Amino acid sequence: MDILSLSYEELLAQCLEMGEKKFRVEQLYQWLWQKGVRNFDEMLNLSKSFREQLKQRFYFQTVRVDSQLHSKEDGSTKVAFRLHDGVFVEGVLIPSKDRLTACISSQVGCGLACTFCATGAQGFTRNLSVGEITDQYFALNEIAKERSGHGVSNIVYMGMGEPLQNYNNVMKSIARLTEAKGQAMAPSRITLSTAGIAKFITQLADDGFACNVAISLHAANNGLRTKLMPVNKANDLQKLSDALAYYYEKTHNRISIEYTLLKGVNDSIEHAREMADFTKRFPVKINIIEYNAHEHSQFEKSDKETFNAFVAFLERLNLIVTVRYSKGKDIQGACGQLAKKIAKQ
Ligand code: SF4
Repeated sequence: MDILSLSYEELLAQCLEMGEKKFRVEQLYQWLWQKGVRNFDEMLNLSKSFREQLKQRFYFQTVRVDSQLHSKEDGSTKVAFRLHDGVFVEGVLIPSKDRLTACISSQVGCGLACTFCATGAQGFTRNLSVGEITDQYFALNEIAKERSGHGVSNIVYMGMGEPLQNYNNVMKSIARLTEAKGQAMAPSRITLSTAGIAKFITQLADDGFACNVAISLHAANNGLRTKLMPVNKANDLQKLSDALAYYYEKTHNRISIEYTLLKGVNDSIEHAREMADFTKRFPVKINIIEYNAHEHSQFEKSDKETFNAFVAFLERLNLIVTVRYSKGKDIQGACGQLAKKIAKQ
């Protein structure tokens, strides 16, 4: 059994069945989720016989750091993780003025095939397990401490894959990172980024999701959005808007909208107007993102004048707009660039 897939209650039930005491399970859980230890032999306050029993019953499905690339431009670090079956995913450490963010992956590849995304171009291989998701954070946290002296402050589920297509494991990983017995991270420090799958956004609302949600919008008319993001076919803007309105009504969490400007594609004032109309039903923060080309790119980034005019139009409507120039461009670690570049598959 994969020990990292178990909640505290599930692990407790397993260990009671093995004849162990509850306080030993508390200790085991601390090793797993507070200290991030992935070797039973290092859990020195557990008896040798308990450790042997644990080895018989459980294994660790985790990740191994395969290689690292460090940006010379902005201090970001891209890490390739090797998984037990020889496939790779990537995570990125992104420093900014007041935070150090770990961007982590939820799937090997992605089946949603957004046309501007390097991960989408490689197709879907499989979902990551709970341990494979959380252990990217533990590894990035260690690398951060070694390189900068302090750990990760924020996590974004914005790496490879669509997190909501791996709903159960992503939710369990967030539980391990936020629960008091785990990493006790404030939910406000975690952001889940999705291409917008309506039924799962509704489910997030029903499940009382407390972290931030970011929607990759990139176009607010159905024709163009379906061309850019085929997921829009089954989740058109009306369905997405209904799901987001429901999500806001239930959680009162402000929604982030991610919009990457592509030259001559979605960067006109009319496109900005469409986005402003789309966001009328719920409060939003809009992130306008500079496009990062990758080797399969068919797009270019918008020129400066068009970019500024787009942002100014939204600001005139009193919308909260932040401009994001992606970090890690020189290491292909920026938004939409994660693929098998350093993953020697
Ligand atoms: S942008 Fe996100 S959802 Fe779209 S293909 Fe890339 S990883 Fe998948």
